[in-house]
Parts: sequence; structure tokens; C-alpha cells
Amino acid sequence: MILDRQKNLTILGSTGSIGRQALEIIDVFEEIYHVVGLSAHSNWKLLADQANHFRPDYLLVTDETVITLKEFKRVLNYEPKEIFMGPDSTVDFAILEESDTVLNSLVGFAGFQPTYHALRAGKKVALANKESLVVGGELIASMIRDQPEMLIPIDSEHSAMLQCLVGEPKDRIEKIIITASGGPFRTWSAKRIANVQVEDALDHPNWSMGAKITVDSSTLINKGLEIIEAYWLFGIPLEQIEPVIHPQSIIHSIIEFVDGSSKAQLGPPDMKVPILYALSYPDRFPLTTDRIDWSKHMELTFEPVDYQRFPCLKLAIDAAKKGGHAPAVLNAANEVAVERFLKREIDYIDIAKIVGHSLDKIHLNTDLTPGSLHEVDLETRSLARRI
Ligand code: NDP
Ligand code: MG
Repeated sequence: MILDRQKNLTILGSTGSIGRQALEIIDVFEEIYHVVGLSAHSNWKLLADQANHFRPDYLLVTDETVITLKEFKRVLNYEPKEIFMGPDSTVDFAILEESDTVLNSLVGFAGFQPTYHALRAGKKVALANKESLVVGGELIASMIRDQPEMLIPIDSEHSAMLQCLVGEPKDRIEKIIITASGGPFRTWSAKRIANVQVEDALDHPNWSMGAKITVDSSTLINKGLEIIEAYWLFGIPLEQIEPVIHPQSIIHSIIEFVDGSSKAQLGPPDMKVPILYALSYPDRFPLTTDRIDWSKHMELTFEPVDYQRFPCLKLAIDAAKKGGHAPAVLNAANEVAVERFLKREIDYIDIAKIVGHSLDKIHLNTDLTPGSLHEVDLETRSLARRI
């Protein structure tokens, strides 16, 4: 049966798309998952609603400009043990003694420190924040080398890979085929892509997600970030991780083995499946979601990636090959460029220009440490804001 043991969970970013879906699941499995901590950046109203329902002992609001501690206490119907305010509390919040598992659904570089420190403190991490591995994969991979089960991916492609690899020796992998929907501009000409508006980029054909990853999926830089994520998670050489466009988003990734046999993981595009798998791994728990109707006519199609129309993907793969701090530069430049595009300060095609220019200009050849990552992140952001 499924009740092997209780898990005490801290959720970072419970107000986001992944965080909210995680709480919906936890509500169903309330006997197994006990919520110890919840965090929001700016959406304190939703955090208060979640807190009043789940009553965790610890809360964190990272954007202290949105509400004071006194005001926030007033909207709660119970008294938590501690309410943390401000970004400097994020690490303390990620290593709470009472919690054994941290679900990191923060967006962007802000997610790196909590992943790193939670692992260091011996917590299990269920990781949606792919940026943690993009920027600091080298540091994180060395911590989980002997115990990979401490870091379980939530990203659907990586969850698919993990599911395909159950029972398989890792040294028998020939290739990882990582699928991409192709985003809303898959069939658009380069000329049409040049005039993309914010509304177009936020209109993803298959998945409903937060704004940043939705734009990342449209430029395909998301697939580049995911290649880096797979590289650090599974230790497979970059040349053996191949992106392919699969517009239906039914096959979430494929592993090809040395004997020519391949395994794929399939399912409707619903993040609740990989979120629950990350929490139940290596077990599976029952979930009420859409099922594929195999009796109906259905086409699963594949296309090669067009690096010309989607230069961000090429930039990400090049940064991955370069290694060191280059992926952190790529990530910071992309975060700033996407933010500026969403504010309508720059055109869509400027995203790739800002990322490319930042990678040309910023080089840091020291050893990679949490401090050096912070430094290169700040420097890149400052440049990317000025371009
Ligand atoms: P959202 O934008 O929906 O949510 C982000 C969360 O992080 C919110 O709780 C937000 O708080 C918080 N947050 C934002 N900025 C900061 C900051 N500077 N410091 C601390 N907290 C912050 O994102 P998603 O849920 O879509 O994505 C989360 C992560 O999961 C990303 O790394 C994404 O790539 C990954 N992912 C998401 C998928 C999806 O389907 N959404 C699929 C696969 C991966 P608030 O809202 O209160 O301001
Ligand atoms: Mg994904």
C-alpha cells in the first residue's frame, strides 16, 4: 500500500503555477504529506489563504515591500511558529529542521541558493526550479553523485527520463531524446516571429504555466535550459542529448539504449503527474487526471529543431558546451530580457540579442562557487538591463 511514511514538506513558491498544483495534490494526500512551510514572493493574499487552509508552522514572504509583518499576521486565522520576511531568509527557510523534503517551485536564479543549501542540509529536493541546475549544476551534481534520489526533477521531460530509467543501468544509455512542443511559433516564418507581441508569446498551445517559462518555451531557450538540466541530473554527455519537436506534447521524452531499444514516457500534458511522481518516487500514487483515449485516432509527429528561427536554443547549447559560468550568464541575461519583453521595453527578437551579447561580453574564469555565481549573475543583469 501507499502509506509508507509521512513526508514533511516545505514548498518554496507555493503561490506560483507549480506551487499551487502541488498544494492541490497535497490536499488529496493530506495523510501522507504534511506542510511545514509555504513561501510567496509578492502574492501575500494567496499565501495567507493557503496558510489558513494548511496551517504550516513557517511562512516566508520574500518581497518585503508588499506587506509588513504586522499586517500579514492580521490576515492569518492561526499563529505560525515563525514568519520570515525578505529574501535573506530564504536559505533559513529552505533548511527548516522540521522539514525533510523541499519542493522548490521558485522561478529563476532565486531558486539556486535554496536548492543548494537544502541538499547540503540533507533534505530531499523535489525540483521544479530548473534554473538551479542551469546555473549551479556543477556544484549540485557533486553533492548528489552518490545519492541521486535526493534530487528528483519535476520538469516533465526529466520526470519522463527518470521514469524510463527505472531499473536500467545508466551506462547503457546511448541517447536521450528530449521532446519540445515547439511553442506557439513553431510554424511561423522568421519575418512573422520578428513582430511577435507579448500576448502571442504568452499563448502556449499545450501547457498552462507561469509567464517566464511560457516565454522561454516560445523562444525554445527552455529546451536549452532543459538540456543542461538533463546533463547534470543524469550525467550524460551533451552530444548524447538531442532535442526534437513533438507538437502534441504526449511523449515527454525518450531514452535510447545501447541495444537499439527505446523507452518513452507518455501522458496528457498535465504537470500534476510529474509533481506527484517527484513526491511519491519510487512509488506511484493514484491521481485523477485526463487519460489518453487509445481507441481514438491520434497522431504523434516529430520534426527537427530549426536553430535559425530559434537562436536562443543554439545559444543555450553553446553556453552548456562552454561550461563554467557561461550558463549562469545565459540564464541571467535571459531572465532580464524576458522581463523587459514582458514590460514591452524591447522587441521579441531582442531577447536573443541580449542573451548573445551578454555571453560575448561576460567571462569569469575562476572556480564556480555560490559566491562566484552570485557575482556573475549581478554583473550580467546589470549589463542586460543596459543593452
Ligand atoms: P510562476 O511564475 O507561476 O511562480 C513562481 C513562484 O516563485 C511564485 O510563487 C512567485 O511568488 C515566486 N517568486 C517569483 N520571483 C521570486 C523571487 N525573486 N524570489 C522568491 N520567490 C519568487 O512560475 P512557475 O510555477 O510556472 O515555474 C516555477 C519553476 O518551475 C520555474 O523554474 C519553471 O521553469 C519550472 N517549471 C514550471 C512548469 C509549469 O508548468 N509551470 C513546468 C516545468 C518547469 P509570487 O507569485 O508570490 O510573487
Ligand atoms: Mg519541461
